[in-house]
Amino acid sequence: MKRISILGVTGSIGTSALDLIARNRDSFSCIAFTANENVEALAVAARTCHAKLAVIANEAHYEVLKTHLSGSGIEVAAGAEAIENAAAMEADFVLSAIVGAAGLRPTLSAIKQGRTVGLANKESLVCAGDLMTETVKASGARLLPVDSEHNAIFQVFDFDRPETIAKIILTASGGPFREWSLEAMRSATPAQAVKHPNWSMGAKISVDSATLMNKGLELIEAYHLFPVNVDQLDVIIHPQSVVHSMVEYIDGSVLAQLGSPDMRTPIAYAMAWPERMAAPVPRLNLADVAKLEFLKPDMVRFPALGLAWEALKAGGAAPATLNAANEVAVAAFLDGRIGFLDIASIVSDTLDKIKFASILTVEDVMIVDENARVHATDLVKRKH
Ligand code: NAD
Ligand code: MG
Repeated sequence: MKRISILGVTGSIGTSALDLIARNRDSFSCIAFTANENVEALAVAARTCHAKLAVIANEAHYEVLKTHLSGSGIEVAAGAEAIENAAAMEADFVLSAIVGAAGLRPTLSAIKQGRTVGLANKESLVCAGDLMTETVKASGARLLPVDSEHNAIFQVFDFDRPETIAKIILTASGGPFREWSLEAMRSATPAQAVKHPNWSMGAKISVDSATLMNKGLELIEAYHLFPVNVDQLDVIIHPQSVVHSMVEYIDGSVLAQLGSPDMRTPIAYAMAWPERMAAPVPRLNLADVAKLEFLKPDMVRFPALGLAWEALKAGGAAPATLNAANEVAVAAFLDGRIGFLDIASIVSDTLDKIKFASILTVEDVMIVDENARVHATDLVKRKH
């Protein structure tokens, strides 16, 4: 039995992981489950899976959670620090599936203990990539990418011979606005932005997919996960989301991982690693798909991708600034306070205005993150 903890158990990734656990009851024993606000879903998950501990981030929900779980024998805790402690608990696999920079401290907490971490929370690597990879080296932890592109690359990357790799090519669906004009995007609604053509995901990452910021964050994520330099990273639009990413070798061979667009495949891969386990995903039928298309990304209609590329090249505090400003702008867009195109312009303005310090500690990251949030929030108010 593998002992598993899930940080962000109530989210889109968390729920998919629960589905896999339900179908493989004999393979997993559940340790700690965490959530932000949704006490009911957290309590149901903890009871169903007989978890040892359930933690809710919002301390105001502590009593409600306690009531829901009374008599179950499941321990209950609340608050951000309790989530970090939950992440540090003895476990064979920790799924990091909190959304946003809020996942950084909990993910680092698991890494410090040398755990095997299934990383869905890309924002933590974006804002603290060097710190995280150094901590991984120091503790002997292992990061298994859950993001579908990085999971695909992980499956075809020859880690024993990194010098034989020419480049990594991340595929992007292009999102719901792939064929929209800038004029049409200007008045795009949150409902239109979260309606992803191929994947069903949480609201934040769905908007990131619509702006292509998601692919930008993934470039930074790939840079930290794989031994490549910035010029070896490339992005290609692939509307069918069947080829999940590719690795090109120096002899011209291109290896790819393919599958139906269902996150339960990469989640199952990480959960079962180094074995494999069955996942109840629709089988890929290439004759039905019939056609696979590939196009260059449009950097004019999707400026977020270029901003992320620049932030990656700039290094230091730029990626954390990009990420924090994006989180603020996406939340404001989802709230109807700014327009769709304002997201990238707020990120761009924040990157221009914030002074870049170097990042050595998690406290440094939090300061950069907070400064960027203050600046971006101010920009949101001015646009509103
Ligand atoms: P989601 O919004 O559906 O779920 C987020 C989870 O994080 C919830 O359980 C929520 O309770 C928890 N959470 C939110 N804020 C928190 C806070 N401040 N403190 C503690 N917990 C908090 O998001 P999701 O779509 O499942 O995405 C989770 C992560 O996985 C993101 O980083 C996303 O980029 C990444 N990811 C998701 C998908 C996908 O298909 N959904 C694919 C690839 C990568
Ligand atoms: Mg992805």
